[in-house]
Amino acid sequence: MKFSLSKKLIGILGIGLLLAFFGQIGTRYLFEIPTLITLESQSDAKDIEQVRLAISRLQRSLRLSVSDHAAWDQTYEFFQSDENKPLFQNYIDANLVDETLETLDVDGVVFVDVMGKVKYAFERDRIRDNDVLRDKFVPPNVDAQKRYQENGEVEHEYITGGIYESNIGPVSFGAGHILPSERPFPEPIGTVFFWRLLDQSFFVAISKDLQTEVRFSPVSETVGNTRKKAILDALQESGSWQLPRDAKEKLHWVLNDIQGKPVILIAQSANKRSFSQTVISHSVIVGFACSALILTILVLFFSRTVITRLLLARSLMLEIINTGDYSRRLPAGKSDELDSMFYQFNQLLGYIQKQNQELLEQNKTLVELSEQDALTGISNRRYLDEVLDRTWRQCARSGKMMSVLMIDVDYFKPYNDTYGHPAGDKVLVQIAETLQHNLHRATDYLARYGGEEFCVVLTDTNNSAAVSVAERLRVEIQNLRIRSDVSDCADVVTVSIGVATFIPDAKVHDINMVKAADEALYEAKALGRNCVYLKGGMSKDGLMNIKRN
Ligand code: GH3
Ligand code: MG
Ligand code: MG
Repeated sequence: MKFSLSKKLIGILGIGLLLAFFGQIGTRYLFEIPTLITLESQSDAKDIEQVRLAISRLQRSLRLSVSDHAAWDQTYEFFQSDENKPLFQNYIDANLVDETLETLDVDGVVFVDVMGKVKYAFERDRIRDNDVLRDKFVPPNVDAQKRYQENGEVEHEYITGGIYESNIGPVSFGAGHILPSERPFPEPIGTVFFWRLLDQSFFVAISKDLQTEVRFSPVSETVGNTRKKAILDALQESGSWQLPRDAKEKLHWVLNDIQGKPVILIAQSANKRSFSQTVISHSVIVGFACSALILTILVLFFSRTVITRLLLARSLMLEIINTGDYSRRLPAGKSDELDSMFYQFNQLLGYIQKQNQELLEQNKTLVELSEQDALTGISNRRYLDEVLDRTWRQCARSGKMMSVLMIDVDYFKPYNDTYGHPAGDKVLVQIAETLQHNLHRATDYLARYGGEEFCVVLTDTNNSAAVSVAERLRVEIQNLRIRSDVSDCADVVTVSIGVATFIPDAKVHDINMVKAADEALYEAKALGRNCVYLKGGMSKDGLMNIKRN
């Protein structure tokens, strides 16, 4: 299949646009969107981390406070005393007042004996009755767990704090063994817990601090809620403690208790998504439009600078080939390779033109050198002298007469002036054909003498025969009926004929037979044209004048 340059260019443009389009989409799909999502999830992770940090801070402060109190002799003594003793009440009044607990950010304190039984329990603001609290608050087991280290040694690890799902709700707690300050440490006599309820008010405070909405739900309360159940299931399935942001731009994650069991489900508002996830985004459209614009400009530029010029050059070259006019030139500037190519082509054209010119001139000389007249196709006067000489000698030998006819078209200059030179040429061709057609003998010789003059040499022809041939020729020309409004002697093209007849003598050589016939022609013209005039040649009785109208 053949395609034009313009079609190829349009094809390239189309392919380029497709590549640009799919390139944009591919880049967006494979790199841009994944990068944006990664950045977004990093930012989400930081948001979650801030909430976790707030909870960790609470945890650390509870641990510090509780360890201070647990390893304090007063606490040791308080724990050993009885509720009725002043020591007991003094300790409470001094340490477990609302202000102190508030300062420590503690909601309650629980003292547990070595059997794990709650001995005393206090709550800030005395919300619950201590006895109720004592019954309800089942303390977590924080006893040492055996842990085998890599080197095989056994290490005892006590739980000093964490999150725990107590009977009054999920709490963050710190735990410390109650010990006297004397050394070496005896066995602990019990454990003290400082706890802080992880409730709505706690998360409202975090929300305020971080200026983002953080909602919590204890896992124990999510039983009937299908949506929260689905979130928990998804978390369990993913094996992670957090889920990627959902369609409502919420981040869901869980807080585990000391046993690694999820206790609190948190729904946190994420920052609003700052990008569109659709593949054909504004950036893709704008990018594509820019690529399309650049490509179109490039193609137009190439089309203007190369293709249009090539097409112009091609049509010019076709014209040059068809008309043969090698004088024309391609538009060659001085700026680029195409210009230099056109310039070289022009040089080639110049060379061809020069050669053509030389060829034409050579042809002209050749035609001139040949004996044939280019216009009429009959003999030219080149061999006339030779023919006259040869006929003279032949007739001298055979003792026969010969005649010369000079034929001239009447009023031909005005004819040319009126009807144009090409029309005049046509007339000359017709006259030559008619003359040739009416000369029957093989020895009759017709030549174009020049311009609108013809010359006939008749062998073995005396004056009367010559005159009748001349008369026949004159009449035939008249009968062509070539209309002429500029002739003063007829309304058609006519000829005048001068006839000269000779009796050749072998001893005589310098006879100007053409001049004699020309003089006769002059007479014919003088007699009014469109007639035949005979002038005697060398023979005295050959003189004869005839006029026909
Ligand atoms: P006259 O009757 O006296 O012969 O008048 P004329 O106008 O024919 O005579 P003149 O010699 O003044 O003009 C001859 C004209 O013939 C001049 C030229 O215009 C025309 N002629 C000569 N050769 C050619 C030719 O080859 N073609 C054409 N078309 N015309 C020619
Ligand atoms: Mg003439
Ligand atoms: Mg003439």
